[in-house]
Amino acid sequence: MKLKICGMKYQENMTEVAALQPDYLGFIFYDKSSRNFDTSIPEISNSIKKTGVFVNEDLEVVIEKIKTFNLQAVQLHGEESPEYCNDLKNRQAELVSASLEIIKVFSIKNEFNFEVLKPYEAVCDYFLFDTKGKHPGGNGYTFDWNVLNNYSSTKPFFLSGGIGFDEIEAVKKFQQSMASKYCYALDVNSKFEIEPGLKNIELLKDFKTNLFFHANHGTDSNLNKHMENYNVNEKGYYGEFGGAFIPEMLYPNVEELRQNYLKVMAEPDFKKEFDQLLKDYVGRPSPLYFAKRLSEKYNTKIYLKREDLNHTGAHKINNTIGQILMAKRLGKTRIIAETGAGQHGVATATVCALMGLECIVYMGEIDIARQAPNVARMKMLGATVVPALSGSRTLKDATNEAIRDWINNPVNTHYIIGSAIGPHPYPDMVTRFQSVISEEIKWQLKEQIGRENPDYVVACIGGGSNAAGTYYHYLHEPDVKIIAVEAAGLGVDSGESAATSVLGHEGVIHGCKTLLMQTKDGQITEPYSISAGLDYPGVGPMHAHLCKTGRAEFMSITDDQAMTAGLDLCKLEGIIPAIESSHALAIFEEKTFKPDDVVVVSLSGRGDKDLQNYIEYFKI
Ligand SMILES: *Cc1c(COP(=O)(O)O)cnc(C)c1O
Repeated sequence: MKLKICGMKYQENMTEVAALQPDYLGFIFYDKSSRNFDTSIPEISNSIKKTGVFVNEDLEVVIEKIKTFNLQAVQLHGEESPEYCNDLKNRQAELVSASLEIIKVFSIKNEFNFEVLKPYEAVCDYFLFDTKGKHPGGNGYTFDWNVLNNYSSTKPFFLSGGIGFDEIEAVKKFQQSMASKYCYALDVNSKFEIEPGLKNIELLKDFKTNLFFHANHGTDSNLNKHMENYNVNEKGYYGEFGGAFIPEMLYPNVEELRQNYLKVMAEPDFKKEFDQLLKDYVGRPSPLYFAKRLSEKYNTKIYLKREDLNHTGAHKINNTIGQILMAKRLGKTRIIAETGAGQHGVATATVCALMGLECIVYMGEIDIARQAPNVARMKMLGATVVPALSGSRTLKDATNEAIRDWINNPVNTHYIIGSAIGPHPYPDMVTRFQSVISEEIKWQLKEQIGRENPDYVVACIGGGSNAAGTYYHYLHEPDVKIIAVEAAGLGVDSGESAATSVLGHEGVIHGCKTLLMQTKDGQITEPYSISAGLDYPGVGPMHAHLCKTGRAEFMSITDDQAMTAGLDLCKLEGIIPAIESSHALAIFEEKTFKPDDVVVVSLSGRGDKDLQNYIEYFKI
């Protein structure tokens, strides 16, 4: 069965969807549609039929669009008569594509008189059956496919109307029924969207694998397993986690961002500027390094993704570059941020200097005293560091101050959150900016070992941004196992820990529902880890979902284990890692991998900032 993906609107997105190799891509030429196509089509494979969708359009306009966009198929969604179809057919000779396919749409509610198809048989190539709704197409509901049991024609048809991931089983059942005998293609649209016209690539990919892979390759029961969606849904949830739990007064700010972030990110100009800065300013791509001596020690194949080599020494800059460009596109002139250890504060101050924007960083008074070098860095970069004097005077209190500031300055200020946490759309936006990590791993592995997928991807988790970026393009690849490494501090049961997956329960922190360390009456527990970046009482909602569904294996690593693994990397590979990253490296003492396993570890940052800690710990 063929696949048609309809309602394309954004160029970047078209290129991504085309990479999934559907058989048809649909472009809607109808200005009343929220998916009205008003741009140009990037170069896509000739094997994908570009299909123009029209509703009672003037024939000359249709002809002109066919010529302009080199359309190979036309889908007629209105009350076009058989004569109209015939006229179109007769004009074929003058068209660029001499073999134009004509698809006539009929909308079905609960019943349908198939007699009406008769006059169209000779003048159309296919029929398309859609659900009758308020608008022509894109209503998001399926009709009762049993109606097709009465299909009296032999013309192949497209099945359309509200087909989504949840319909996979129903489609499979339909495929086995008599009614599907002439079903030629599936047509999908709104159920795979992040917003009208913007398709969710991962979801489409899953759908295609799930449905089409089996249809052609028999019955491997493993493949039949319904794969969860690990991306955010249109309401901002990952399974039961996520959402936007914010004070009323923050709503306009968050809503403005939500409505715009995907649109802005899909703009070619944005993508170009982002990529350029990542390359010339951050120094990407970061190397994927085969750690030979470390691999020998653990008798497996360990690759390090060298985020430590980025400008400012960690992955955090990927996100702040993305967000500062977003802020500029939204017309913001003032940037605020919260920081604990100061790493995110430095990454934010850096990009503000780069763009000449005002920068205010909120930081707990205690943290300011503990992290003097980073405070100095921020000041040198031109930022104002404002101490948070309330509560425990650490990260949580700094966050509260930042939120208060944002409420008071809704129009000109953008709040750059530093991890895959916060109200929707922050976790998803941060994840997308960080996803460059797994995007690079894919082609780098392909180059080095001939395949894109490792057996494992491993990353440490504070809020979860380096992990989210490392996992992103592997979330829906079942052959890639995911390991998430948390800080156990002095031990999971010691009372001095940050192992959220073990100690946490569902709760709301910083605007989202996630796993959170808290007391019985919901007070947030003070976390502890030797590593400032992992010293956080929650995890991002995506990770809570990965934990709950079992997609990721969570491991907890103590201070001692991490410090030892960190020093080990120094001696074996000549790389001084951040203590956060050392947690990820410590799993090799805990878990045995096969000699052939390819294990990619995110080396999220370099250890310069942690020198004092290493000195004190090892009495160097
Ligand atoms: C901040 C930081 C982390 C933790 O943050 P995530 O959002 O979980 O990635 C990890 N490693 C380094 C080097 C950091 O600076």
